[in-house]
Amino acid sequence: AKRIVVKVGTSTLTYENGQINLGRIEKLTRVLSDVVNSGKEVTLVTSGAVGVGVGKLKLKEKPTNIREKQALAAIGQCELMHIYSKFFGEYSHTVGQVLLTRDVIEDEHIKQNVCNTFELLLQKGIIPIVNENDTVSIDELENIAKFGDNDNLSAIVSVLIDADLLIILSDIDGFYDSNPKENPNAKLIKQIDEITAEIEACAGGAGSSLGTGGMATKITAARKATEAGVNMVLANGEEPAIIAEVLSGEEVGTLFT
Ligand code: ADP
Repeated sequence: AKRIVVKVGTSTLTYENGQINLGRIEKLTRVLSDVVNSGKEVTLVTSGAVGVGVGKLKLKEKPTNIREKQALAAIGQCELMHIYSKFFGEYSHTVGQVLLTRDVIEDEHIKQNVCNTFELLLQKGIIPIVNENDTVSIDELENIAKFGDNDNLSAIVSVLIDADLLIILSDIDGFYDSNPKENPNAKLIKQIDEITAEIEACAGGAGSSLGTGGMATKITAARKATEAGVNMVLANGEEPAIIAEVLSGEEVGTLFT
């Protein structure tokens, strides 16, 4: 795989109390810097803007109100980019912020503009950091399981830039035959070649309190990516070094083909 998209969820980027996990982000940026150094092109799709905003304003909990969330996302996005820029800068890498809404693929002209931006950034060895534009679009904030989350945004971006692989990092080792947080006997599925109704049924509803989509959106993302010929790996982001393991062909997480 030459062109890689990595998506990290809120559960990977923040502690359970909502505060930002700097150590985790630092490790993530170091691993991704090495991936770029090895000659690959990396695009990072990141959630976490609201969570970072909550931390920045030292709020006790995440607000449920959409407008509050939008404002917090605006605050948190700056801080999040500052952190990424600083850490990637430590390893001599430059980032570019790309804020998108899912309808970018619906208009051919806009789609082309977005493609051009990615191509040029990647050509220059810059790491595009993608998030949903929460000021314009409230799809992710509203938790629309179909399109509006970053799992799906990461699939859309992967297809748009014709990536070789999409890696979605979450707080779980991969896709199980049922939710391991509810069923201790749940079994990890190593490879899924077809997303059947049975697989969809295993995905259940939304996941952790801080994360947004749970498995349902990851399955939709997997379908979108694989239908366009982009393989996807779902793996645990607790140790970001897992990205290197995935890229060296080790059997970690769940591979969707
Ligand atoms: P993120 O913020 O990383 O996107 P989410 O919290 O949205 O993560 O989704 C991950 C959660 O989905 C897991 O922690 C788990 O509790 C839940 N889940 C539900 N069904 C499954 C399943 N079949 N396999 C794995 N995890 C599942």
